[in-house]
Amino acid sequence: MNPLRPVILAAAGSDRVKRTLTTSPVSASMVRRFVPGETRSALVAAVRELLASGRAVSVDFLGEYTTDRARADSAVAEYLALINDLAALDTSAVPGGAAPLEVSVKLSALGQSLGADGPAIAAENLRVLCTKAGEAGVWVTVDAEDHTTTASTLAAIRQARPEFPWLGTVVQAYLYRSEDDCRDLANAGARVRLCKGAYREPDTVAHQHRAEVDRAYLRCLHTLMHGPSRPLVASHDPALIAAAAALAAQTGRAPGDFEYQMLYGIRTDEQLRLAARGDFVRVYVPYGTQWYGYLTRRLAERPANLAFFLRALAGN
Ligand SMILES: Cc1cc2nc3c(=O)[nH]c(=O)nc-3n(C[C@H](O)[C@H](O)[C@H](O)COP(=O)(O)OP(=O)(O)OC[C@H]3O[C@@H](n4cnc5c(N)ncnc54)[C@H](O)[C@@H]3O)c2cc1C
Repeated sequence: MNPLRPVILAAAGSDRVKRTLTTSPVSASMVRRFVPGETRSALVAAVRELLASGRAVSVDFLGEYTTDRARADSAVAEYLALINDLAALDTSAVPGGAAPLEVSVKLSALGQSLGADGPAIAAENLRVLCTKAGEAGVWVTVDAEDHTTTASTLAAIRQARPEFPWLGTVVQAYLYRSEDDCRDLANAGARVRLCKGAYREPDTVAHQHRAEVDRAYLRCLHTLMHGPSRPLVASHDPALIAAAAALAAQTGRAPGDFEYQMLYGIRTDEQLRLAARGDFVRVYVPYGTQWYGYLTRRLAERPANLAFFLRALAGN
């Protein structure tokens, strides 16, 4: 894990840093690398290009930690319109194109942090999205946020899965609890997106060192690949991608039985290489105006991005 990551994530929490970064002209070019647009029409144009190149998508309408009800309601309305738009797209160029397109959603954007009633509001909003998605033939996966939300998020997914068995869950390998969660979810046959984890977490709940996170990821991947679930291998790390390919071969999984997932704008050549050899590749594509939290997590993942962060703060 990038040793500067906690420093960048801590600095990103300051209001002054947020003000500076969201108004810096340097930010605009960096945002464009990771976020194809602020509007749904810009998003759909980017998705069309990805589909034509043989990659599937999971689309995230940016927003998180919503503290007012109206905003949660408007996020739901945007997702319903997004699901309609995705359902109308042509996926014939995607290998194993039978797997539906997908939306990714953060429960904190659907109201999870709206006080004591928040978890129930988010769970109900998730049900509304899943109902619409089920009718449209689109899948939904719930993103994983900071560890204070993990239990509540997994409870909402557990509650929804009997009605929507295709509902996907994200597991963050850096959390100590995740190996148990992977076992439970694999046994339940769930679609599980396994990632390393992008938040600043204390050592009471999460591995802090890169090698420990990578080893935990491999243990979780082993569990998922050997179970009846559809593993979603969300990583750009060449060693983990190679390990996934080896485990898939060992467990007799065909390309359509698991997915490689990567973020929009990161390792595009590798995404294309995997898709060209017939693997199922899904690109996570965020859009919208609320890009600040997403951008700072991407910057914190890579030491080379620190220079950008400092330049933007210095105002040039
Ligand atoms: C599809 C998908 C969904 C995700 N959903 C979640 C989620 O719900 N919750 C959550 O906490 N995290 C999520 N993440 C983020 C994840 O937790 C990691 O922070 C992120 O993927 C970086 O880890 P890595 O496995 O790519 O390995 P790393 O070791 O961080 O990266 C491997 C290589 O990938 C490239 N790379 C990685 N990140 C960047 C970057 N930001 N800029 C430029 N190059 C980069 C570099 O070449 C790097 O050497 C998701 C990731 C993916 C791919």
